Amino acid sequence: MTKASSTESGAADPDTLRLFFALWPDETTRHALDRTGKWLHQHWGGRRMRAETLHITLAFLGSTPADQLDALTACADTVRTDAFELVLDQAGYWRHNRIGWLGASQTPPPYVELVGALNAALREAGYCVDARPHVPHVTLLRNSVGGAVPECEPVHWPIRDFVLVVSRRESDGMHYDVIRRWPLA
Ligand code: ATP
Ligand code: MG
Repeated sequence: MTKASSTESGAADPDTLRLFFALWPDETTRHALDRTGKWLHQHWGGRRMRAETLHITLAFLGSTPADQLDALTACADTVRTDAFELVLDQAGYWRHNRIGWLGASQTPPPYVELVGALNAALREAGYCVDARPHVPHVTLLRNSVGGAVPECEPVHWPIRDFVLVVSRRESDGMHYDVIRRWPLA
């Protein structure tokens, strides 16, 4: 059963929301990520993501009926993961979508547990989430040319919660609104 399907056009219908679960940076981490974006842009060019949009997607739902919010909340409520630190220390580039990103050379076990538990709960409830192997990453550049991978200054991100986000396309780009938050133990 598929309750949600993703579209690239965004959710025009007011009863539908374009949703995803994510890690959202605290202010200090956001500044550090933004500085890394500025630095990577000097190497690889492209379009920098605005600081307030920086995040890691944990599970992507896409266009979803708004009346599913309670059911999604129930899925996220089942996740039990301790708080942890994520060290983002590796720049990466995907040629197929020209994205420059910051990732982790070591994925901590609680991260794997969090992504696994959340996606499993969503799948069990009938949501259609990405089954491809998950690569933890913060998109920093779009339309980037990439190149030799430069050594980068690690960003230490204390992960204390995860969030549900609505994605809206506006004339000046994508806007993301955090609508719910789940603290980690
Ligand atoms: P645009 O689609 O206009 O380029 P965007 O990708 O930033 O903008 P969304 O498509 O709403 O905005 O995606 C929100 C988040 O979910 C982004 O981090 C995006 O990389 C991620 N995402 C989008 N589609 C998928 C997918 N099919 N599987 C996994 N993650 C996805
Ligand atoms: Mg997209």
